[in-house]
Amino acid sequence: MKLSEHFSLEEFTHSSKAISMNVSNAPTPAHLENLKHLADRMEAVRALFGRAIEITSAYRNPTVNAAVGGVPNSAHAQGHAADFHVDGMNDLDVARAIRDSGLKFDQLIYEKNRCVHISFDPDRMRQDVRRQPGGPGSPTYPGLG
Ligand SMILES: [Zn+2]
Repeated sequence: MKLSEHFSLEEFTHSSKAISMNVSNAPTPAHLENLKHLADRMEAVRALFGRAIEITSAYRNPTVNAAVGGVPNSAHAQGHAADFHVDGMNDLDVARAIRDSGLKFDQLIYEKNRCVHISFDPDRMRQDVRRQPGGPGSPTYPGLG
């Protein structure tokens, strides 16, 4: 199922953790609507770079989110966040370009040696830019450093 021109529900709900645990990562109807909005905003990110986007993780239902150590109120668990790479670019350059682009978002996190995380919660667009040098679950710090 397509969520937008370049993004599918499959890539937004793919979870190797869910597969390994043999649990479904299907979204609720409300979360599906959030994922459509997320895909629309990721089209804007794609257009900013004019390059393909590789989604490494987006939606995590509560079971999967707990299993990967995500915080319970994670934007990923609401269908508002995506972790991604831009084809042929390093993640820090991508995060800097988004920060400087004027694109509206809630949170942008450079997760060092991992991915760029971005979230778009229509009720909360903080333009909060952070970095996470220490890996999943470790502290985040303001700015890209
Ligand atoms: Zn993330």
